[in-house]
Amino acid sequence: MSTEISTLGEFGLIDRLTREFPLVNKSSVLGVGDDAAIIAPEGDREILVTTDLLLEGIHFDVRYVPLMHLGYKAAVVNFSDIYAMNGTPRQITVSIGVSSRFTVENIDAVYAGIKLACEAYGVDLVGGDTSASVTGLVISVTCLGDVEKGKAVRRSGAKETDLICVSGDLGAAYMGLQLLERENHVAASSKDPDFQPNFAGKEYILQRQLRPEARKDIVERLRAAGVTPTSMMDVSDGLSSELLHICKASGVGCRVYEDRIPIDYQTALMAEELNMNLVTAAMNGGEDYELLFTVPLTDKEKVEHMEGVRMIGYVTPASLGAALVSRDGNELAIRAQGWNAFSSEEAPAEREENPTESENSK
Ligand code: ADP
Ligand code: MG
Repeated sequence: MSTEISTLGEFGLIDRLTREFPLVNKSSVLGVGDDAAIIAPEGDREILVTTDLLLEGIHFDVRYVPLMHLGYKAAVVNFSDIYAMNGTPRQITVSIGVSSRFTVENIDAVYAGIKLACEAYGVDLVGGDTSASVTGLVISVTCLGDVEKGKAVRRSGAKETDLICVSGDLGAAYMGLQLLERENHVAASSKDPDFQPNFAGKEYILQRQLRPEARKDIVERLRAAGVTPTSMMDVSDGLSSELLHICKASGVGCRVYEDRIPIDYQTALMAEELNMNLVTAAMNGGEDYELLFTVPLTDKEKVEHMEGVRMIGYVTPASLGAALVSRDGNELAIRAQGWNAFSSEEAPAEREENPTESENSK
């Protein structure tokens, strides 16, 4: 089926998209359908708010991103920001700009993904806005969350001697994107109309790119263990960039060990296949949505063997700067090479062989 949006009209479309979103949170008093939603903050909690804007051609490519995955990801990356503050996501609003290339079924698919994400994380869709667009598909998600008063974890709390930890593994989403781009390229130049990309053995990196998850589980595990991070953020632009954010906001430096950086086997294989530097991909590839956080040294035993958490280094005085300690013990200054939509240059791992700049070579 391919139904033109104009056959439904704006209100028909909104109604169709938002029909099957029951409210599950007590704080969601009124959802879609009035001039504004009503939210009732519970008890002594503070409200967290975060927004992400996704533009076709800048943040996603509909040639190889299924629309349902796009909807899922658009929601989940916002949940990730709320968890990264030590909070719980509760409500989202979703605004879309839709060009005439897209059908009602296309937008249904986006909302099916949003619905899956809302169900998986217990979040309510409470509003949004809908408009025509002349620049392709636009999706903006705003997420509201809450946290016990005073318990939000900022980027600015890291202290000297704190341990630096990261969840999951890094670089996989970036390698997944490289794979998708390569296969899309091959498909475009293939003379075989039945060309099928070969993704066997690469399921994990694809999933990391197309269907990322927010680390709700890590936040809960830390809470259960009685560990409150001194600083925390999610890894959306790449570890290098995020480490520098924490160092700057906290007024500290850091040492991170190359051989401690968690990397999945499929990520390593793909890097080898594409002749890319693996550490570069892990340090600078974006969209991992893992949590980077610091904990006091006294919590070492609690995080040391925590499932899904790896200690990768420690916090130093600001005067020592931010450095990666290589396998052979050299210190390499960490530079920001995160995703930057404003940059006209190529993606990070393609333009730079080394993740870092040698201190000694300066
Ligand atoms: P207004 O004229 O006040 O902007 P709209 O007609 O745009 O109202 O929206 C009507 C209701 O539908 C509002 O509750 C709004 O939040 C909700 N809504 C509009 N577009 C979307 C969307 N794309 N996704 C979810 N809710 C939406
Ligand atoms: Mg409106």
